[in-house]
Amino acid sequence: MTAYVALGANLGDALAALRWAAQALAGLPLSRVLRVSSLYKTAPLDTDSGVEVAAPGSDYLNAVAALHTGLSAPALLDALQALELQAGRQRPYRNAPRTLDLDVLLYGSARIDSGRLSVPHPRMAQRAFVLVPLAEIAPQQVSAAQLAAVAHQAIERLGALQPGRAGAD
Ligand code: ADP
Ligand code: MG
Repeated sequence: MTAYVALGANLGDALAALRWAAQALAGLPLSRVLRVSSLYKTAPLDTDSGVEVAAPGSDYLNAVAALHTGLSAPALLDALQALELQAGRQRPYRNAPRTLDLDVLLYGSARIDSGRLSVPHPRMAQRAFVLVPLAEIAPQQVSAAQLAAVAHQAIERLGALQPGRAGAD
């Protein structure tokens, strides 16, 4: 199964957290990292209410990774949450700044709504920080209309997440 995972961080050494996470994804059981997008910088944004409002904290660093995985979708979420904890993630309140956020964007073409896991990620279409890196590594997964709908959100491409490494390995 090909799964797409969003990586984000805006607390502490966010760059180190994303680099660590990309390495850790490669170490997940039954899994192989197919591609990792460039690194992007975005302002904190809360889109949960349907209206875009600034969220607290510093700018985010974001990226998206494509994984080939034999883990089930719930097992993948478990593994991602374990990595968030290892990175020191705390959840004091909704949309709080975070040392590492790992979200399942897509799990093949599966549609899942189990309470703890919704796939495709229900808010991905509102977020340039998801759609732009996803379109970079999987253009077939993102339509031009979706990109146009978030084109007003500021997002800056910073370069490779892991300089000197190819995207796929
Ligand atoms: P955020 O929505 O900002 O990523 P959290 O990372 O704190 O917030 O996640 C809140 C909850 O969202 C998690 O406990 C998890 O069970 C649930 N969740 C539902 N769908 C997904 C998904 N596709 N990927 C990651 N978490 C998900
Ligand atoms: Mg999350």
